[in-house]
Amino acid sequence: MKVVYTALFSLCCSVLIAQDTYLHCGKVIDTKNGTTLSEKTIVIHGRKIKSIQNGYIDKNHKDDILIDLKNKTVLPGLIDMHVHLESETNPNAYLEKYTASEADVAYNSVGFAETTLLAGFTTVRDLGGSGVNISLKKAINKGRIIGPRIFTAGKALATTGGHADPTNGSNRKLIGDPGPKEGVVNSIEDAKKAVRQRYKNGADVIKITATGGVLSVAKSSSNPQFSIEEIKAICETAKDYGFHVAAHAHGDEGMQRAVIGGVKTIEHGTLMSEKTMDLMKQYDAYLVPTITAGKEVTDKAKIDGYYPAIIVPKALEIGPKIQNTFGKAYKRGVGIAFGTDAGVFKHGNNGKEFEYMVEAGMPAMETLQSATITNAKILHMENQLGQITPGFIADIIAVNDDPIKKISTMEHVTFVMKEGKIYKSE
Ligand SMILES: [Zn+2]
Repeated sequence: MKVVYTALFSLCCSVLIAQDTYLHCGKVIDTKNGTTLSEKTIVIHGRKIKSIQNGYIDKNHKDDILIDLKNKTVLPGLIDMHVHLESETNPNAYLEKYTASEADVAYNSVGFAETTLLAGFTTVRDLGGSGVNISLKKAINKGRIIGPRIFTAGKALATTGGHADPTNGSNRKLIGDPGPKEGVVNSIEDAKKAVRQRYKNGADVIKITATGGVLSVAKSSSNPQFSIEEIKAICETAKDYGFHVAAHAHGDEGMQRAVIGGVKTIEHGTLMSEKTMDLMKQYDAYLVPTITAGKEVTDKAKIDGYYPAIIVPKALEIGPKIQNTFGKAYKRGVGIAFGTDAGVFKHGNNGKEFEYMVEAGMPAMETLQSATITNAKILHMENQLGQITPGFIADIIAVNDDPIKKISTMEHVTFVMKEGKIYKSE
């Protein structure tokens, strides 16, 4: 019986692939040219965009699918360059580090991945977890579970006691001496080994914590934590494997070392000086703003007992500054790569970031371009993602209002297609 069912299933799937899907779109955001088109029909065949035609074209074949998006604004699937799909903020998060097993983490991440996709984010860069994020990516790619296309760092790299040292805050019996395999690097040799280990594990990008951070159980939010030689060794080794490097950084000195050392993106960038902004332009590095996470940690730090005591002053100092720095960096001409740090706040609320970016002075169209064409370019997917163009992968979303006039509409995505398959249609 099971065999018959499987045969029928594969038969109907092959029929489905032969169909075309027609989207009648009231408005379409043309991310490449920064304009809004009206009354278009997008035709999708298999996992790719086949054509875009003027007006509302009738379907060709009776089995073709027609979706009415005449009252919507249609955009390419969004890309978030900074998420953590293994976890989500909650008051027990610091205890769960010791109580949750890998399987618990894995089951939780399934829901977070689905929520992210249904919020319109068809591609994400996962910047660090335990390594379950690599299995999550594989399960999504195989179609076992629903989620965005993932480019993952696996486990992030830190120095001993640094922001991503996995045993920070543990008692002496548990603290051990983690090394490159676990993501702790203290020399050029360690740096090379840690990157190669991530290649072996199945990562796609490298994440380093170039300075202290807010949510680690450690004193400083912003001290430099790598030598420039270590960062250079990481970036040079990463290049051998086609990886780019993302650097978490709040403090200016660590950020400068990261940019000069060759990283592609600076995450958060909170205390960035004008000199570092100019270096970023010179080195073609991008700022990933994560304004939503900054606001979230500021709010949560005011709830008694939500974070361990050592976190609270760091959250209150760093959190409120992120949006302002983003505004300054944008105005100075630093490239901006849309990214939120979802997981630090609830997954699925990634779209709120657009509103915060506009509030800080970036025009709405540019925020949309940042989350599509800019991010696609950093991921070396600029010929496949980020545009509604024939031949590109059919990652397409829709919102109720025109985001150029009302950016908050990006928080309520009503239609989601990933690789030609519809996951949400309200
Ligand atoms: Zn993060």
